[in-house]
Amino acid sequence: MTATNAPKAQSTDVVGQIVFALRTMGIAPLPRNYQLFYEAYIGSNGPLTQKLAALGSQATQEELDSLAAEFLGTAQVEVIERVHDKLLVELESLLKLLRQEQQSMESYTKLLGETASRINSKANFSTDIIRNAIHLLTEATGDKLTEGERTVDSMAEHSQEMDQVRRELDEYKRIANTDSLTRLANRRAFDERLAGLYDAAPTLPVAALVLADIDNFKKINDSFGHPVGDKILASVASIIRANVRKDVFVARTGGEEFAIVIEGNTADEVMLICERIRCALETRSFRNSRSGIQYGPVTISLGYSMGSQADGPGTLYANADVALYHAKRSGRNRTVFFDESIRGDYAGKNWLIYQG
Ligand code: GH3
Ligand code: MG
Ligand code: MG
Repeated sequence: MTATNAPKAQSTDVVGQIVFALRTMGIAPLPRNYQLFYEAYIGSNGPLTQKLAALGSQATQEELDSLAAEFLGTAQVEVIERVHDKLLVELESLLKLLRQEQQSMESYTKLLGETASRINSKANFSTDIIRNAIHLLTEATGDKLTEGERTVDSMAEHSQEMDQVRRELDEYKRIANTDSLTRLANRRAFDERLAGLYDAAPTLPVAALVLADIDNFKKINDSFGHPVGDKILASVASIIRANVRKDVFVARTGGEEFAIVIEGNTADEVMLICERIRCALETRSFRNSRSGIQYGPVTISLGYSMGSQADGPGTLYANADVALYHAKRSGRNRTVFFDESIRGDYAGKNWLIYQG
């Protein structure tokens, strides 16, 4: 199959088309390959479609990568995500239909003709799979059972293939949203989470945003080296994670900075959670198990604001940052709850940028 003979596809057709095209052409199921074919099939980029078609079934990964560099640009990650999400939705509906079809076919192998027309009437089913199924079913008049079984096998195979694609896409998504050092959510995932916080307005749930920053971390790096700093960072991440509920969102948003989104607790309760984290860290001994060298103490400053104190994600973040700034300025190793009165000398400085 080449890109040119693909009609402007309906949404559920796209998945089938891409899966079949990649498989037939022996192309690796990499996000950028899905992305290239996706753009080509939905017909959003004429020249790309033409060039992809010109490569035909002999396309090498290098050629595909050069097309990706030429047509997909630097915003690749965002587009991959868009494709990923779209594909997942499409894949889900396709898998559901496939499974239903498989089950019903297994129990109705004697009524193959009827099944064929039933599949035929499913307009939103992948055209390739329908065509394949109908072809097999039509040919099965002489030997209904054998052909029917073959059709079931063929569908089961496609279903497994779709499952595999979905698992791969899930894995790509997980990697894209995870910080590799700490295994926490990363900045990208945090930005998405924060943006989504106000989606449910006006019935905004009680939510708090906590920003936390390790104190004098530069000194730790300077004294013991970057690898030790990395280990301490990972330990701090585990300590934060271990001191909050499972449903609490924890991200590493930058070098030695973390963000925590807590839903369903009052401001007083959030203060207790923050203090629990702070004390757990303060009392933890950090030392080299072989040499016995003490790295600690390691402390953290935290600032937080409640969702109800802001009119959107930007203000909420700024509020929490003001509180964190205040925690740093007033001595570090403490938690500060945002209040208009503490804005004081912050004067719009972003703690994460301000290094005073
Ligand atoms: P403050 O209490 O004011 O936050 O002081 P600080 O020293 O923690 O703040 P500063 O922003 O000056 O230093 C942050 C340091 O974090 C600087 C940088 O070397 C270190 N850092 C950032 N990312 C990493 C990382 O991934 N690994 C390690 N080991 N260090 C990192
Ligand atoms: Mg710091
Ligand atoms: Mg910092």
